[in-house]
Parts: sequence; structure tokens; C-alpha cells
Amino acid sequence: MLALQGDFADHQSALEAHGLRTRQVRAPGDLLGLDALVLPGGESTTMLRLLRVQELWSPLRRALGVGLPVLATCAGLILLSQQVENPQQDSLGVLPLRVIRNGYGRQYHSGTFPLAVECDELPKDLEGTFIRAPRVAAVLGDCDVLARRDGDPVLIRKGAVLAACFHPELAPSHPVTQMFADMVRADRRTLRGAPAPARPRAPAGA
Ligand code: GLN
Repeated sequence: MLALQGDFADHQSALEAHGLRTRQVRAPGDLLGLDALVLPGGESTTMLRLLRVQELWSPLRRALGVGLPVLATCAGLILLSQQVENPQQDSLGVLPLRVIRNGYGRQYHSGTFPLAVECDELPKDLEGTFIRAPRVAAVLGDCDVLARRDGDPVLIRKGAVLAACFHPELAPSHPVTQMFADMVRADRRTLRGAPAPARPRAPAGA
């Protein structure tokens, strides 16, 4: 879990309930030896500032470049999107999306809404809790839209990156959390069966 700000503790509980072990990333050394990474919801501007203060910006970019399974929700999705508006801000540029921060309105407009599912891996009655959520204004490149709210993409997958405008981590057991836990387990199996790719690993005994 990137644990600089936001609801990382909810992500930890949700993933641990699905049988995964989690730990917090607050400094570059914490990125070593991870099987997966979660960028939580919260305030993307604060996270951006803290990423720089903690000198995590470049190490995190590198970690994202090696193809680990990544779950990003809300502010996490904003951090990963190539173009961010309202206002413009820097990003890690991993997802080909143009997003508008707070694009669904203010806190008052937050709530849980039905989603239109566009893949076979998720139940058709999927819901998502949106809290001052980003709205995806455009898909700029290759990625899969797995679910929409009122026509707009809200659950996106590109390779091993799963990103949601909403907060599956706030539900006791959400299908998107299950989907991510399955992605992590499948990736571990691939790693065990294949020669290790060039990923940063903790030194022996660390
Ligand atoms: N509005 C927040 C932002 O722009 C995101 C809100 C959230 O993560 N729930 O960063």
C-alpha cells in the first residue's frame, strides 16, 4: 500500500480479508520485494506533494514500470492518469486517460451508484461508492473499460493495472477487490513457474 495519505488502511483490511498479506510503503526502500502495489483513495494533490517529500516519485515510477499488479482507486487513479484537469497537475502517466478531478461534484453528490458492467469477470449488479470522484473525460489509448457509470468509464484495466474511480475497499467484500486478489495470485503463480523477471527484490535476509 502506498501509505502517505488516504484510505490505505481500508485497502489493507479489504485485501487481508481476501487472504493477501499487506504492508505499507512510505519510503523508497519499502518498494523492494513487493508482489503488487495499491494506490489508495484520498487527496491526490497531497499525495503528489508527499511523494516528492519522501523522494518516492522516481522509485515509484520505476516500480510501476516492471509490470506488478497495481490497484488504484479514486485519487490513486488520478495519480496514474496521463492527463489531469481541474486543475492540471502532474501524474505518473501510466494510464491513457484524461480525468477531471471532482468530476461528479462535491461531497454532497457522493454516494453509491449502480454500474454497467462490460466484462464477464464481474457480476452484472455491480455498485460503486463515489466520493468526490474523478470523471474519465477521455480514453486516450489502449485499455479495457470494465464498467461504466452513466456511460463514462469508471473501472479500467491496462495490463496488470486495475483502476477505479470508486472505492471497492469500502465494501466488506467487493467483486473488484476479489478480482484484484485473483490477479495478484495469478501473477505470483506465473512468477513461480517462469524465470524471474527483472524486478527489484529485497536482498536475502532483508
Ligand atoms: N477528489 C480527490 C482528488 O482529487 C479524490 C477523492 C477520493 O480519492 N475519494 O484527489
